[in-house]
Amino acid sequence: TLIKISMATCGITAGADTLYDFFKEELEREGNASIKLVSTGCMGLCHSEPTIEVTIPGQQPEIFGNVDLPKAEKILKDIKYKKIHKTDVFISDKLEKVVLRNCGFMDPENIEEAVSRDAYLALYKSLKEMSRQDVIDEIKISGLRGRGGGGFPTGLKWQFAFNKDVDKKYVVCNADEGDPGAFMDRSVLEGDPHSVLEAMAICGYAIGSDEGLIYIRAEYPLAINRLKKAIKQANEYGVLGKNIFGTDFNFKVRLKYGAGAFVCGEETALIHSMEGKRGEPTLKPPFPAEAGYWKKPTNVNNVETLANIPVIINKGAQWFKSIGTEKSPGTKVFALAGKVKNVGLIEVPMGTTLQEVIFDIGGGITKNRKFKAVQTGGPSGGCLTEKDLNTPIDFDSLKEKGSMMGSGGMIVMDEDDCMVAVAKFYLGFTVEESCGKCTPCRIGNKRLYEILDKITKGKGSVNDLHLLKDLSKTIKRASLCGLGKTSPNPVLSTLNNFYDEYLAHVKDKK
Ligand code: SF4
Repeated sequence: TLIKISMATCGITAGADTLYDFFKEELEREGNASIKLVSTGCMGLCHSEPTIEVTIPGQQPEIFGNVDLPKAEKILKDIKYKKIHKTDVFISDKLEKVVLRNCGFMDPENIEEAVSRDAYLALYKSLKEMSRQDVIDEIKISGLRGRGGGGFPTGLKWQFAFNKDVDKKYVVCNADEGDPGAFMDRSVLEGDPHSVLEAMAICGYAIGSDEGLIYIRAEYPLAINRLKKAIKQANEYGVLGKNIFGTDFNFKVRLKYGAGAFVCGEETALIHSMEGKRGEPTLKPPFPAEAGYWKKPTNVNNVETLANIPVIINKGAQWFKSIGTEKSPGTKVFALAGKVKNVGLIEVPMGTTLQEVIFDIGGGITKNRKFKAVQTGGPSGGCLTEKDLNTPIDFDSLKEKGSMMGSGGMIVMDEDDCMVAVAKFYLGFTVEESCGKCTPCRIGNKRLYEILDKITKGKGSVNDLHLLKDLSKTIKRASLCGLGKTSPNPVLSTLNNFYDEYLAHVKDKK
């Protein structure tokens, strides 16, 4: 019998570590070796943490949520009589786990468990059966697009770095997840760090690099801890380091810590920060693939993008293309949060509609309130409303509707939420996070915030609403990097969809 306890940051915060200690002590006290206890990464059921999964040989695994100590005692008793109850948490059949294939299913601190779930098989296949160009072609054919928000074709990015004929290149994993409400990458690193290490090594082989760096925010201590353990184990196991699988391919990985600046998610700012400089973006070109870390060709992919790589190599590009939509193949992981019943980490095929995510998977709005809007794409995205609920979630459809995919934060709002206040919240975040290098973003966003503040205090006028629009357009056009170029999106989309709400705040309501 196996008891798995979801012990990512969310589970531990809800008390999973206390539960783990309880089961451990009980089993040790009884000398019961027939029940194995495993600590796993996030099972995605944040709404029901602490969560445990029980598997009795010959029976279906059952998942239990909101497990406190009395419930744990009862479950343990039931296990002994081999009469456990059925799963008591809601798990939608619309979920599809590709990136999260191992999260919640294995102990992320045990490389042998990872290997038993196919870790490093794709690296072996790449090194032994595929040329470097074969690997890149497979990723190109798969149609995988960057999951950090940009949606740039990953295979093409690898090709650019491959094409550079120089002695030193770098592979960088962008783990600087910073959107408010987003925790997809943290969960992958906490639940399946080997998938990212393996993908980085595959990328290293493909583009001709022997060194990888993971730029991770220092606020992710559990992810850092598990990555450190995973790197150590991978080196001992011979799947990182020198002469991997007996070939002449060498690849090492080390960590670089970020101080939590949102702008460092931008590739050039990230590279500057890794070099010990201020995390400020620079104009592209040159792109990192041409001149990145220490001016060497550098391939930067985010955590979720990388976690797709091993499974594409193992199952093939055509398999990957069979999931999702034609222009956005595969799945997308979202951190579903806000006024929705089943908040948590979800992974769905691209093309799933917002309606399915919010109502079928998310269980609808809390306290029987009415759905009002959903913000995708974090502070760079926009609000979508009831009329957009049938929008399929993919890179292009969300853009057409005035929002964007972003990295995967999805915050649901209900009829009680003031959309002017929502716009002000996101803009306040951007003002805090602007690096200050260019005037439109540094000053423009501040002025935009001040106008919003005035409006929310009932001191604004209709003229201010025009000003909001004009200034937003200027900031979008004139800012240097993506942060500034997208920062007015929440203002523009709420103005567009909830103009009446803005009008209700101003003095001269015309
Ligand atoms: Fe910095 Fe904003 Fe300019 Fe980007 S747009 S470089 S974050 S000031």
